[in-house]
Amino acid sequence: MSKIAMTTPIVEIDGDEMTRLIWAWIKEDLLVPFIDLKTEYYDLGLPNRERTKDQVTIDSANAIKRLGVGVKCATITPNAQRMTEYNLSQMYKSPNGTIRAILDGTVFRAPILLDNVKPVVKNWIKPITIARHAYGDVYKATEYRVPGKGKAELIFTSESGEETFRQTVYDYECPGVLQATFNKDSSIRSFAHSCFKYALSTGQDLWFSAKDTISKKYDMTFRDIFQELFDSTYKEQFDKQGLTYFYTLIDDAVARVIRSQGGFIWACKNYDGDVMSDMVSTAFGSLAMMTSVLVSPDGKFEYEAAHGTVTKHYYRFMKGEDTSTNPIATIFAWTGALRKRGELDKNRELEAFADRLEKACLDTMNSGMLTKDLASLAEGIQATVLSTREFIKAVALRL
Ligand code: NAP
Ligand code: MG
Repeated sequence: MSKIAMTTPIVEIDGDEMTRLIWAWIKEDLLVPFIDLKTEYYDLGLPNRERTKDQVTIDSANAIKRLGVGVKCATITPNAQRMTEYNLSQMYKSPNGTIRAILDGTVFRAPILLDNVKPVVKNWIKPITIARHAYGDVYKATEYRVPGKGKAELIFTSESGEETFRQTVYDYECPGVLQATFNKDSSIRSFAHSCFKYALSTGQDLWFSAKDTISKKYDMTFRDIFQELFDSTYKEQFDKQGLTYFYTLIDDAVARVIRSQGGFIWACKNYDGDVMSDMVSTAFGSLAMMTSVLVSPDGKFEYEAAHGTVTKHYYRFMKGEDTSTNPIATIFAWTGALRKRGELDKNRELEAFADRLEKACLDTMNSGMLTKDLASLAEGIQATVLSTREFIKAVALRL
């Protein structure tokens, strides 16, 4: 059999621990035998981030800017314990944070559904993708405990030093709390562009929710920017693809989501997205089945698994125990990237391969060959628990 050719390389971003092992196995058993795999390789494993003083993370993000498509393995975000474990000279920032800042992207998270793992919400038959605006609001708030009687004011001073606004927030008669949050039109606009682009790219409707009835300036600005961009730039393309965009109040969105069949993108403000993505992923079954893609406002894509490096399994593996870590989200990160690369390069063979590999995964799991995390969730079948490598080999055989 001749291998599938590639014209443009994919940016390959390697990572840490259990997922680094899984990364190599996926390439060896599922990709390299079938594809003449072209990648530009960046090693974001913690030892190499230390060696390059994290320059490699910046380089990998710039490579995605240049080549358009990347795939990333989970990476360790260092904390005090990792500083000792890896003998680090600095507490490097989260690579995902660094890459997201460079690409100015929005993260979309979607579950992978199986026939025999039923979502808690029984009418959800298609995935629900959550887009979270990961900038500003309460995550960058300024807040105080107010000690006692006194007046809190909101003041804005223009660049030229002129006081433009001064408004009383509250006249305190007793102790309390006070918080100020902000956002920027440019960030909201980037968020909206990423959402519209991703909806078109995946052929799904887009919902956006906020609370503009209560927040008549702040949330209303989000609503207005989305609407203005939709009307000026995306409406025609949405109509052509038979897709819809609509805005609705967050309360109404929650009710609609629960009653829906799934199959759409739900764009959320920062806090709503944080909370709702955990609710949706739990209701769909398992973190190990969540995929994640970072989409920049100018249409660059980085695919990854939503879970981390699965440290506990890695330590067990290193002690010689054969672990049953679920490689699906990492495999689907690869298929997402390969399909997108194929689409951009008009490489039909590569797109078809991504479809076949995903089908081989789903067929293997639907037949009852599962990793341990899913075996307890599967209903109505006799599950066979496989180790990670056995599972990958089973998928390869089917492929
Ligand atoms: P984690 O790696 O997602 O794992 C947490 C737990 O979830 C695991 O112990 C396991 O539960 C279960 N799990 C996650 N993925 C699984 C899979 N593929 N198959 C089976 N079970 C899975 O989160 P963490 O332990 O909090 O973080 C570990 C490291 O990952 C940290 O250093 C963190 O910085 C990093 N991290 C990276 C990313 C990223 O790169 N995107 C995201 C999150 C965390 P059981 O132990 O019960 O089996
Ligand atoms: Mg959360």
